[in-house]
Amino acid sequence: MADLTDPFGRRIEYLRVSVTDRCDLRCTYCMPKGFDGFEEPEDWLTFEELERVVAAFTRVGVRRVRLTGGEPLVRKDLPELVARLGALPGIEDLSLSTNAVRLARMAEPLKRAGIHRVNVSLDSLDPGRFAGVTGGGRLEKVLAGLEAARRVGLEPVKLNMVVMRGVNEDEVPAMVEFCLEHGYTLRLIETMPVGATGQAATSHYVDLQEVRARLAERYELVPAVMSGGGPARYVQVAGTDLKIGFITPLSQHFCETCNRVRLSVDGGLFLCLGQNDAIELRPLLRAGASDGDLDEALRGAIALKPERHEFREHPCQVVRFMSATGG
Ligand code: SAM
Ligand code: SF4
Repeated sequence: MADLTDPFGRRIEYLRVSVTDRCDLRCTYCMPKGFDGFEEPEDWLTFEELERVVAAFTRVGVRRVRLTGGEPLVRKDLPELVARLGALPGIEDLSLSTNAVRLARMAEPLKRAGIHRVNVSLDSLDPGRFAGVTGGGRLEKVLAGLEAARRVGLEPVKLNMVVMRGVNEDEVPAMVEFCLEHGYTLRLIETMPVGATGQAATSHYVDLQEVRARLAERYELVPAVMSGGGPARYVQVAGTDLKIGFITPLSQHFCETCNRVRLSVDGGLFLCLGQNDAIELRPLLRAGASDGDLDEALRGAIALKPERHEFREHPCQVVRFMSATGG
């Protein structure tokens, strides 16, 4: 089987595809209020182009693909894209990251089209706070989306909670109980200084080592592994099925095991979440590149993957938004 290994010996087998940079929410740490620097629709990769790029990645060894954004459910006809990508030989895991606002309606068609599982962003279980963090989002829609995901079997459902000092830090135990009750996996995330939200994000930064220590006073936590866990380090609450993942880009580097690259909606191939360099695939695609040219471009790009991010040394160095490359 072909594989793609970078100069630091990391095998690249996971691709995150941003299918849109638009979103129906405005999370404070992700998209600044009033942000309007979106890509033009004519620059979005079409479904045909996305299918070509993902097919090229599968030829060089990628096995797992996640659709993200922006909010992927706002891209028109998403189930059609899912069906096309799901039909590519070599894809073993096709997943989706979503805010779940539109998931109640979309879960069933997405499951039918070939999505295996979903990660859902949820930072608060309090409707007022949720609205505050998301720029007016309605919690009940997300809860209905989560229910629908479980009902149609988009499992395991993982909840992503960005833990923020003075905002929702006190809700971690409530989120643990919610996940215990519903059978969801919980992933706690440190805020990352990305884009113009960088300053806002860092001012609420919480070191998740502290959060973990506080949880360990309430629950017996044992180390655990989770397939497809990515950079999260997992523990399990003893005597239950609940796994809790900690995603700690700042307090604990996870670059040495980084196995992923990211495609932006306009065809930029980003090699590191914490660096700005991208290889532009759209011009190649639109200039009639052959499959062989594309494979060559991907191999050349991976040879440039940086060793590590520099969030600590150069916070706010990354000028794009998380919504452009999908987190
Ligand atoms: N809209 C979808 C969602 O919210 O799940 C998918 C895209 S969103 C950019 C992907 C993930 O990035 C979410 O879990 C979100 O919480 C996370 N994220 C965005 N900005 C972040 C930041 N500054 N620090 C940490 N996580 C961030
Ligand atoms: Fe939208 Fe997701 Fe960013 Fe929130 S985190 S603004 S839901 S893209």
